[in-house]
Amino acid sequence: MVKGSKMSPETIEKMRLAHTGKQASLETRAKMSKSAMGRIVSEVTRAKLRGRKHTDETKAKIGNANRGRPISIETRIKCSAAGKRRVVTDNTRRLLSESGKRHGVSPQCIQASIAYHTGCKHTAEQIAKHAAIMRGRHPSEATRLRIRLALKGKHKSAEARLHMSQSAKKGSASHLWKGGVQEAHWGLHNAIRDLPQYKKWRGDVFARDNFTCQHCGQYGHVHAHHIEQLQGLVNKYQITTAQQTIMCDPFWDVNNGIVLCDPCHRAEHRMKKVVNA
Ligand SMILES: [Zn+2]
Ligand SMILES: [Zn+2]
Repeated sequence: MVKGSKMSPETIEKMRLAHTGKQASLETRAKMSKSAMGRIVSEVTRAKLRGRKHTDETKAKIGNANRGRPISIETRIKCSAAGKRRVVTDNTRRLLSESGKRHGVSPQCIQASIAYHTGCKHTAEQIAKHAAIMRGRHPSEATRLRIRLALKGKHKSAEARLHMSQSAKKGSASHLWKGGVQEAHWGLHNAIRDLPQYKKWRGDVFARDNFTCQHCGQYGHVHAHHIEQLQGLVNKYQITTAQQTIMCDPFWDVNNGIVLCDPCHRAEHRMKKVVNA
């Protein structure tokens, strides 16, 4: 078809009838999918599609195709951004709550999740409350299985591996043991990293730098590096608990972050002779 040319409604109707019930070959489908990638759907097309629903069969197909597939951090950020400030209808709230109940999620957790996805900011009090609810709780075997499946085939970043090895040799078992000082240090860092604010900061840094190393341009497998070290901020603001950082804006300043790939990140830390991100 000639680009930009419009077909007459009769021609479109003829084509539609000729194609009805016919299935495109795998090759053709691959071509169609490739040509559709990255295409911006016009408002007219959007309006045409609005209100149309997938059949249950299609939904099951999509579900099966996606099962166990890991979601990339980019998609996660996109999903999170799309959900923000979205107005959830009472009906959707009810559905979310019901699906949560089926999966054995507590009502508090569902409320927190709804609030999170609608872009509401949690107060420090709410965060502390949620933390108290979750404290000492362990995921069920079903949840652990889901996590395992989601992580299958995914490679851990060098940062994650470093993190794991450091957390594995805790306390007096570690050659770094300095009578509890080091343990307190890593405990605080890990607690800060577990905060939703930290995850948001990291996501914002990734998004701003488009997942691209700002030193060499490598895309994808990247880290969010603190320009002013986390420990530097901890010392400066005399932080002793992760909760204290929530109200401390410099911790969540996107300008204090930069996206670096693994080798550039390591080089940066070697230069600074500090091991934490
Ligand atoms: Zn790099
Ligand atoms: Zn770093």
